[in-house]
Amino acid sequence: MKRLGTFLSIVIVSTCAAFAQNDIPAAAQKAMNAIDAEKIRATVKYLSDDALQGRGTGQKGGDMAADWIAAQFKSYGLAPAGDHGTYFQKIDFFGVTTDPKQTHFAFVPKSGPEMQLKFADDYVANDQTHAQKSEIDAPLVWVGYGINAPEYNWDDYKGVDVKGKMLLMLVNEPPSDDPNFFKGRALTYYGRWTYKYEEAARRGAVGVVLIHKTEMASYGWEVVRNSWGGETSLLKEDKDPKLKSAGWIQLDVARKLAAAAGMDLDKMLHDATTRGFKPVELPVRVKETIVSKVRSFTSRNVVAQVKGSDAKEAQQAILYTAHYDHLGIHPEEPGDNIYNGAQDNATGCGILLELARAFATAQEKPKRTVLFAAVTAEEQGLLGSKYLGQHPPIPAKNISLDLNYDDIAPWGEPQQLVVTGAERTSVYPQVEKVAKEFAMEIQPDDKPEAGHYYRSDHFSLARVGVPAFSVNEGAQFKGHELAWGEEKERDYVAHRYHQPSDQYRPDMDFTADAKVAKFGLVLGWEIANEPTLAGWQQGDEFEKARKMGQ
Ligand SMILES: [Zn+2]
Repeated sequence: MKRLGTFLSIVIVSTCAAFAQNDIPAAAQKAMNAIDAEKIRATVKYLSDDALQGRGTGQKGGDMAADWIAAQFKSYGLAPAGDHGTYFQKIDFFGVTTDPKQTHFAFVPKSGPEMQLKFADDYVANDQTHAQKSEIDAPLVWVGYGINAPEYNWDDYKGVDVKGKMLLMLVNEPPSDDPNFFKGRALTYYGRWTYKYEEAARRGAVGVVLIHKTEMASYGWEVVRNSWGGETSLLKEDKDPKLKSAGWIQLDVARKLAAAAGMDLDKMLHDATTRGFKPVELPVRVKETIVSKVRSFTSRNVVAQVKGSDAKEAQQAILYTAHYDHLGIHPEEPGDNIYNGAQDNATGCGILLELARAFATAQEKPKRTVLFAAVTAEEQGLLGSKYLGQHPPIPAKNISLDLNYDDIAPWGEPQQLVVTGAERTSVYPQVEKVAKEFAMEIQPDDKPEAGHYYRSDHFSLARVGVPAFSVNEGAQFKGHELAWGEEKERDYVAHRYHQPSDQYRPDMDFTADAKVAKFGLVLGWEIANEPTLAGWQQGDEFEKARKMGQ
């Protein structure tokens, strides 16, 4: 899911003339040299082929990808780290697809005409309870940002009972530049749509309607529509309360709704930014019939390991992750309806496999065990990695670090590195050191308000305490102006990201992917040999989970 919104406002000029890799352990250097950009290309080409049908979770193409990745692990000599001596963690899911023809959604104001919404164009919704049919006739309550954050002295609910009600709310969090208030510009987990649904369900709400505003969600309506339009997967073992209707509406629809309720949307949006905000029951009911196709299926994480060289420390590990799933095939859509996911995330799989091959074939191994996980259902809300975090092959408290790869643009040689969240962990000095060895500047997160940290699989590991972050490249590429990389990025987000056009092209240059793979190998190697396990900076939101030691 994750995509960088990397439109830099500052220019960083790399002053390092060449690769000055003096400080890399010889064994790591040797292992690193095995990484081959053309092998990454081969993986991307295969995984994004139409034959794999977009690697949908619970679809045939997704299963083919998992089998193929396991076969690669095996051929490279990695040991299995899954269930019962296999390369797989089998995960039970419900697949829920909203039937747009039989599903009806209307706002019914006390006075004035009913507002019937058109699925996909005006709104999207999923039934998280995996019922085949849910009927909702409930009052609509405007709850602003829908956040209860005692540590920031912020409560949008103000004790109002929302049981059985539909909640209208905003994505994101109250805007602020104060780092002590929702981390200033940076997004905290409270701003993510997943939190909004979870909190509303905990309070017994029947459903949530999120108002989609592109600049607040940091992605356009097409991304919401494409992500919600197909099948949504739910972890079967998930015992958390769920919503009958978890949805979004377009901003224009919200504007009309407010007018029908005799209110002014701009004023509502403004009121929501104040601490004194109180929930408002609108003179509007929601009448919704949500009909879903529901099926049970299994999907698999693919996990493998290279045992550490030190008998004792091999009980501990470092972990590399990349999701192999994408959005699959949407048979109801005309034209090309295969979401190939070449960049998102066949690239990360190509990197993961090269890392696996390099570690497995290295003559000398690091002390700690190295785990590799190609996870499923990332696009469905980080579900495969959530399962991995809750069922790790080695206990989470003994995993020093997770390095995740997601959506690594194959555009040549990067001179910048994006490692958002690394600064929250104890390994940051090493990250800086290794970046220097690779002559890569660390690019600060220029769009912290997009909350990238919560949008890829490393977050699932952080939630169980494992220091974790994604490794990606910045916009500065060798031989090009910064503006070139920024324009490529803009073009990708507008024309290919989460669209069927995210396809393999022969002009892709995988130097970038090889370079960030090598960076991750060296960093991981060093952390795998450190005398102590990595941790979080004091006071970080994940420190508690680390200390609880799951
Ligand atoms: Zn994605």
